[in-house]
Amino acid sequence: MDSQVDRYDAENPEFSNTFLRLKKFLERQVGKAIADFNMIEDGDVVMVCCSGGKDSYSLLSILLALRARAPIDFRIVAMNLDQKQPGFPEHVLPAYFEKLGIEHRIVTEDTYSIVKSKIPEGKTTCSLCSRLRRGIIYRVAHEIGATKIALGHHRDDMLETLFLNMFFGGQIKSMPPKLCSDDGQNIVIRPLAYCSERDLERFARAMEYPIIPCNLCGSQETAQRKQVKAMLREWEQQHPGRIESLATALTHIVPSHLQDHSLFDFKNLQRDTPVGEGDIAFDTAETSQKPHLVPLEGIVRKQNVIVSSLHKAI
Ligand code: SF4
Repeated sequence: MDSQVDRYDAENPEFSNTFLRLKKFLERQVGKAIADFNMIEDGDVVMVCCSGGKDSYSLLSILLALRARAPIDFRIVAMNLDQKQPGFPEHVLPAYFEKLGIEHRIVTEDTYSIVKSKIPEGKTTCSLCSRLRRGIIYRVAHEIGATKIALGHHRDDMLETLFLNMFFGGQIKSMPPKLCSDDGQNIVIRPLAYCSERDLERFARAMEYPIIPCNLCGSQETAQRKQVKAMLREWEQQHPGRIESLATALTHIVPSHLQDHSLFDFKNLQRDTPVGEGDIAFDTAETSQKPHLVPLEGIVRKQNVIVSSLHKAI
């Protein structure tokens, strides 16, 4: 990775500065997400799931860079699951990991044939495919003693999921930055939670990763996901700041101003019940509160010594 940066330095100092700034910015965002959600602790074994796409390559590079200067000790094991999709270039990721000289594990499981045999032609295969993949990932994490499983989902994946759930599922629900599996055995983390897809695209382009196409299985994004993606892209272009505000909104939920009885006890609300968010009953929706835009840089929440020192080192 450093040789890549050096090459940019030698070839084009101006471009190199832009690249280095972007690299630093992404590392700072990932460091902040790790600290905010206590994603990585001393002694962790982090299995980084690498699909060969721009996001997981970037995640791996950034975690390796952060580990090199973190005051805590954790192991990184890169993992790729070869699902036997037609045309999958199986040599690409092992060669890449070997070039980096990092611990890795390649797992081959023909989930493609299973999915094809079970799902009728023309139907969406993603749900069965992801279920099978999840089971394999959890099994491999157990085999290698991983304490964390890192996935490459980013901020825009999370916002897309939020709107998909609202538009088509009747729920306010996104993708969590950190979650525990149903069986209580695995902690899944998404360290790119604060990173925009656009920045990751720029970073991956500059890093010249050997990208593996993501459409080998023949499945397409659903029409709904495409619609939501297009809507967010349009907002990003036409309303600067809106996407950042939405991302910040995910971190500032006000249960007493929604309608979920499991989050706020409306029935027992009395005149003397303290409500943290205050009285805005007669304020207009637009002016009651400014969007709580918090710059991602510059905040250190002191959760514990290890996490905050990791963040500061970053
Ligand atoms: S896009 Fe293809 S590989 Fe990805 S989850 Fe769907 S079926 Fe599986």
